[in-house]
Amino acid sequence: MNSGREVKSDPRRRLPAVDRVVSALESGWPDLPLWAAREGARAALAEARERLAGGSQAAAPALDQLAEAAALRAGELSRPHPGRVLNATGIVLHTNLGRAPLAPEAAAAVARAACGYTDLELDLASGQRGSRTAAVVVKLRLLAGVPDALALNNNAAAVFLTLSTLARGREVIVSRGELVEIGGSFRVPEIISAAGVRLVEVGTTNRTHLADYERAIGPDTALLLKVHRSNFALRGFVAEVTLQELAGLGRERGLPLVEDLGSGTLIDLSSHGLPEEVFAPSRLRRGADVVCFSGDKLLGGPQAGIVLTARREHAIAMRENPIARALRLDKLALAALDWTLAAALDGRAVRDLPVLQRLLEPQEQLERRARALAERIRSFAGELDPAAVPDTGYAGGGALPDFVLPTFAVALRPPGGATRFAERLRRARPPLLARIRDDLLLLDLRSLDPEDEKGLEEALRGVLR
Ligand SMILES: *Cc1c(COP(=O)(O)O)cnc(C)c1O
Repeated sequence: MNSGREVKSDPRRRLPAVDRVVSALESGWPDLPLWAAREGARAALAEARERLAGGSQAAAPALDQLAEAAALRAGELSRPHPGRVLNATGIVLHTNLGRAPLAPEAAAAVARAACGYTDLELDLASGQRGSRTAAVVVKLRLLAGVPDALALNNNAAAVFLTLSTLARGREVIVSRGELVEIGGSFRVPEIISAAGVRLVEVGTTNRTHLADYERAIGPDTALLLKVHRSNFALRGFVAEVTLQELAGLGRERGLPLVEDLGSGTLIDLSSHGLPEEVFAPSRLRRGADVVCFSGDKLLGGPQAGIVLTARREHAIAMRENPIARALRLDKLALAALDWTLAAALDGRAVRDLPVLQRLLEPQEQLERRARALAERIRSFAGELDPAAVPDTGYAGGGALPDFVLPTFAVALRPPGGATRFAERLRRARPPLLARIRDDLLLLDLRSLDPEDEKGLEEALRGVLR
C-alpha cells in the first residue's frame, strides 16, 4: 500500500471518473452509442492510468484529451464489422479482405434466405424432412460429373471430415514438400493430427519420388494425401510425384487418393489462360478419389468447403460421420453457393462472378482505366504525381502461386512517403487498401471493381482535405 502522502501526489488520482468522460462524449459526439462511449471512456482512462503508473512525473491528461481518445476508440467499436473497403492491392482473392466478393444476385439470394422462412430442410413435395444440401449436391454432381459431393463450412472442414472419416486412428502419407501452412491457422500437419490421424512424411522439402511413397505404405496406411502448395512455388532442383502416378500407386495398393486442391473451379478456364490443374473435375479424371477446395477462392462463391468424391461410399461415410454436423454450411452461405453453382451451370460464371471478372479483365482495359483514373486524380491531387504504370500481380488467396497476372496501376508519389500515406488511406472513408513498391503507392486496378473508382477518388479527396 502507498502511504497517504504518496497517494496524494499520484497523478492517477487526478483522472476524472468514467461518468465524466462519458458525459463529455455525449455532448461532443452525440452520434456515438452509449455502450461504445462507456467502453471508449473506460479504455481511455485505463490507458492514461497505465501511462501514469510507476511514479511517472507526467501530468494527468485533461478531460478534453481523454474524451478525444475515448471518442476515437468508441468510433472504432461502433463501426459495423466487417465493413466495406476498397481493394486496390491487386490481389483479387485477399484472405484479409474476405476473399471472393459475391455477385449482387448471389447477395440477393442470401438476403431472401435471411429475411424469411425457407424450405431449408423440408421437402415441399412430400412434406417430409429434406436435406439442406441436396440442391447444391445435384449441381456439384452435374458440374463435376461425379456420383456424389458434399458442401461444408469451409475447406479446412472438408479436409478435416475427409481425414476423420477415411483415416481416423490410422496413417496418411504426405510429401514433405506439401506440409504447408495457408495463412494463419491452417497447417497440414496440425489438421491431420487434429483429425486423429498419424502423419507419415515422405521425401524431402524439394524432392519426393514415387518410391518414397511406396516404401512408406504399411498395414496402418489409410490413404495417400496430396496437398496443393497454394501460396508458394518450388523452383530449381525439385521433384514431385504427379497425381496420376500417385493414383496408380493407390489403385495398386487399394488406397484412396485424396487431394486438398485449396482453390478450384468447376468450369474449365484453361482457354482463358488459367492452369488446367485448378479445374477440380480434371483432378478426379486424373485419378483422385476425393478432391476438396474452398468455395470463396477461384470458385467465386461464399465461404464453403466443397468435397467431390469419385465413389459414392466415401461421401456417404462422410455424411454419416457425427462430426459432419459441426462442420455444416449455414443457410446464408448455402443460398449464395446455390446461386453461384447455378451460374456456372447456366454458362454465366465468367460474365457474372466478380472474381472471374477481375481475374480475366484484359490488360488493355486495365491500362485504359488506369490512364483515365490517373488523369482524374491529377485534377485534384497533382502533388501526388499520379501516373499509370504496368506491373505484375497474383491471384492471391492460396490460388495460382505460379500464375503471374499482368496488371495496371496508378502510381502515387506522396510527399510524406508511401507508408504513411497508405496508413491514412486505411482510415479513409471508405477505407482504401493499396500496395507499396519502391516508395510508390500503387493503386492496382486488377482487384478494383470499376464501380469502386468513384469511392477511391472520394477516399483520396478525404485524406487530402
Ligand atoms: C485455402 C486452403 C485451405 C483452407 O481453406 P479454407 O476454405 O480457408 O478453410 C486448405 N488447404 C489449401 C491447400 C488451401 O489453399
